Amino acid sequence: MNILVINCGSSSLKYQVIDSESEEVLAKGLCERIGLDGRLVYQKAGGEKEVTDADMPSHKQAIQMVLDALVNPNTGVFKSLSEIGAVGHRIVHGGERFAASTILDDEVLKAIEECSDLAPLHNPANLIGVRACQELMPNVPMVGVFDTAFHQTMPEEAYLYGIDYDYYEKYKVRRYGFHGTSHSYVSKRAAEILGKPYGELKTIVCHLGNGASICAVKNGKSVDTSMGLTPLEGLIMGTRSGDIDPGAMEYLAKKENLDLEGVMNILNKKSGVQGLSHISSDFRDLEAAAAKGDPAGPRALNAFIYRAAKYVGAYAAAMNGVDVICFTAGVGENGPDTRKGICDYLGFLGVVIDDEANKVRGDEKVISTPDSKVTVLCLPTNEELAIARETVALAGGK
Ligand code: ADP
Repeated sequence: MNILVINCGSSSLKYQVIDSESEEVLAKGLCERIGLDGRLVYQKAGGEKEVTDADMPSHKQAIQMVLDALVNPNTGVFKSLSEIGAVGHRIVHGGERFAASTILDDEVLKAIEECSDLAPLHNPANLIGVRACQELMPNVPMVGVFDTAFHQTMPEEAYLYGIDYDYYEKYKVRRYGFHGTSHSYVSKRAAEILGKPYGELKTIVCHLGNGASICAVKNGKSVDTSMGLTPLEGLIMGTRSGDIDPGAMEYLAKKENLDLEGVMNILNKKSGVQGLSHISSDFRDLEAAAAKGDPAGPRALNAFIYRAAKYVGAYAAAMNGVDVICFTAGVGENGPDTRKGICDYLGFLGVVIDDEANKVRGDEKVISTPDSKVTVLCLPTNEELAIARETVALAGGK
C-alpha cells in the first residue's frame, strides 16, 4: 500500500510517499510559505529536487499541488491518486486521550481539537492538514500518529509535577513528552540491531535536533522523558531554554518590563544554544566558532552537553541501569563531538566510546568499544517510516 505521510505546520507542510511493502520512499518534499507566497519542493526517488514558486493561499491548495505533482505525467510517481491507500498525519498533542495511533474520524478530530489548548501552535495546524486531505481525498482512510502517545506509559511519579494536584485534575497539567514516534522507532530498532528482545532492554534515546529530548525506555515502554507539558522543558535546545527556575520568569519580566507572552517568547525563541552563544542555533556554526577560538561556541556546546549527560544519568537511575544509549536526530546522528562530550560524563556507568567508530555520520553504527558495559549507537531516526507503518496497521493493507 502507498502511504502519504503528512506533517503539517502553520505555514509549512512536509510530505513523503512510502510504499509500505518495500518501505521505499517514492517521493518527498515540502510546501513552504503557505498563506504568504508559496513554494513547492518535490523530489522523486532518484530524481532531482524540483522547486516551484506558486500561489498557495491555503493548506488545501498546498496539498492539491503535492497531489498534482505526484500524478504529473513527467515527474510523478502515480498514474492516478487512487494509488494512495491511506494518509498518515503527524499530530503533536494527544493529551491523555490518545495512547496509540488512531483512525481519524469526526469524533477523534473533535478530541484532538480539545487538546489544542495544550499545543496551540501545533494541533490547529495539524488539523488543518487533516481536513484539507479529507476534502481532497474523501474516500481515503486517514490515521493520526501522536508525538505524545508513546509516553502515555509513564508512571504517575514521572508525569506528575510537584504542584497542587487540583491542577492535574482540573486542567491535566502534567508531563506528556514529545518526539514519541522517534523514541519508539529508535528504541525498537536498537533492539533489532543488537538482536535482543525489546521487552527486556533498558534503553536511553537521545533525540538531539533543533528540538531535543531524551527518553528512558524500559522493557519497551517509555518510563520518563525530558519534555513536559510543552516541548519547552528539559534539554537546552536550538533556541529553547529547556529547564529553568520558574522564578526566573517573574524576575526577567520585571527587569525587562515584559508580560508573560514576552517572557515565553524569550524562552522559546531567543534562548538555547542560540541565546547562549549569540552565534547560531546550528551546531555546525558553533563548532566552527569553537575551532576559530571564539569562546561563545564552547560556552553553548558545553552547557548543552552537560545538561544532556545529566539527563542520561538521571534516567539510568530511574531504570536502575541502562543497556543501550542511542543518539539520533540532526546533532545525534551527525555530531561526533557532541556524542563524545556526553559519553565522557558517563564513565561511571561503564560507557566507553570507540573514537574511530564515533566518526560516523548519518548511519546506524555501534560507537562504543566491545568492552563498554553499555552499548552506544548512532541510529538515524525515521519518523515518516514509523508513521507509515502505523498507518498501514490501522488502515488495513500491506
Ligand atoms: P528538527 O527536526 O528539530 O528541526 P533536526 O533533527 O533536523 O532538527 O536537527 C537540526 C540540527 O542538526 C541543526 O540545527 C544542526 O545543529 C544539526 N546538524 C545537522 N547536520 C549536522 C552536522 N553535519 N554536524 C553537526 N550538526 C548537524
